[in-house]
Amino acid sequence: MTDTRPVRVRFAPSPTGPLHIGGVRTALFNWLFARHHNGKFILRLEDTDQKRSVPGSAEHIMQALRWFGLDFDEGPDIGGPYGPYVQSERLEHYQQWANWLVEQGKAYPCYCSSERLKQVNEEKEKRGEQKGYDRHCRNLTAEERAAKEAEGIQPVIRFKMPLEGETVVNDLIRGHVTFENALQQDAVLLKSDGFPTYALAHIVDDHMMEISHVMRSNEWLPSLPLHWLLWDAIGWERPAYAHLPVLLNPNGKGKLSKRHSGFTQDGKQVLVLAQEFIDAGYLPEAVVNFLTNIGWSMGDDSEYFPTAESIKRFDLSRVNPADSVFPIEKLDWLNGMWIRDLPVEDLARRLRPVLENAGFEVNMDVLLKVTPLVQTRIKTLNDVVDMAGFFFREEFIPPQSADELIQKKMDSESTLNALEHAHDHLKVQTIWTHDALEAAMRALAEELGLKAGQLFGLLRSAVTGQLVSPPLFETMEIVGQDEVLRRIRLATNLMSAVAE
Ligand code: GLU
Repeated sequence: MTDTRPVRVRFAPSPTGPLHIGGVRTALFNWLFARHHNGKFILRLEDTDQKRSVPGSAEHIMQALRWFGLDFDEGPDIGGPYGPYVQSERLEHYQQWANWLVEQGKAYPCYCSSERLKQVNEEKEKRGEQKGYDRHCRNLTAEERAAKEAEGIQPVIRFKMPLEGETVVNDLIRGHVTFENALQQDAVLLKSDGFPTYALAHIVDDHMMEISHVMRSNEWLPSLPLHWLLWDAIGWERPAYAHLPVLLNPNGKGKLSKRHSGFTQDGKQVLVLAQEFIDAGYLPEAVVNFLTNIGWSMGDDSEYFPTAESIKRFDLSRVNPADSVFPIEKLDWLNGMWIRDLPVEDLARRLRPVLENAGFEVNMDVLLKVTPLVQTRIKTLNDVVDMAGFFFREEFIPPQSADELIQKKMDSESTLNALEHAHDHLKVQTIWTHDALEAAMRALAEELGLKAGQLFGLLRSAVTGQLVSPPLFETMEIVGQDEVLRRIRLATNLMSAVAE
């Protein structure tokens, strides 16, 4: 590959179900590379395994990529100069090149039935040999082929791998890797239903779409000699290859897969699907920042950085070839960092749908006041529901039992007494700001011989109906004087019923 080719990279998922976070990471590295080089990022759907295609997953993949901010320049729904970008709409190209390879003597039709292939494998296994096709049809004569055709058998097309020698491939992350040809299979390029396999389809497309760099999961590395030789067989210029490390599940053993979604033994939650990250209340920027750090580094110790910075610095030379465990706890930390640095209006805009989905009717003026109070306290957007949902309840839910009000080293009598005094003081409070309220309540605590924490805890429970909330006096400022007094009155009623 020449360095002068314009950078065009692709993410090429198979629409066989929900997008996995590992797929998002592959897409991200391609996207960063494209943006770094002012190149193009292309989405291509590889749906040639029709049995495995799942309706709706193509739309889900596109939506999820956009949610993460990984906008593609060409793709199924937006088109582009190299379309269509869905492989099932490009069958004629694959068929044309498969036939061409047969004509050139570089591939051959194979008429073997699946029963025969199974039998061959069983026999090989008995002999202790590596499983695989025995190349039975590789040397059929023209007459033998004609006879099979006359029987109406639809053949598959197989690639003629060299029987000896080595194939040395080059990978931008792993350098040169040598494969022994004798260990390779005569892989199927075109199936009997006329659909291509991945090997043929992606090469035809990568060529036709002028892909300059193929960055994909390193699970594809063992197939690279086949792909390498296919490029040579057709005589096209190969793109550069970079096989990316995969994400491992939390115990470091095996690729992160849907099976690992859930909780680990030590209580850590493991998310695997892109949608799970979206639903968990992470910011797309934080997930992108997190994924950028897995298998790649800025080159210094920084882990929290804006996407623009990763675009500026992204470079394949700092991709670590080793597979990496998935440090999900880092994501919580990063998400918190991102949340704290968002402008208040932006954060409020993102919190709104979360609250609405939880069933609250959101008054934007109130949310704009509440947002700075939760900004330093929530790790995910979803945390806002428990912490500050009460601000948006139509009907306040007061504490249900005296236990929720009575603080450590207090009893029902002292609690009732404190509530009554607080009510009286707050009723005559003329300046309703958090500073003034705090000063007044501190003075009251002292007057009553209580610790500030005891009185504040009591008021928190009375005014918010919960044990954890944003700072008390800021909360009281937002709730407003009349409503605070009403709530304290409710708590007083509860306590006097108990005290009687
Ligand atoms: N369709 C393949 C997959 O989903 C794409 C691999 C590639 O990027 O070429 O794994």
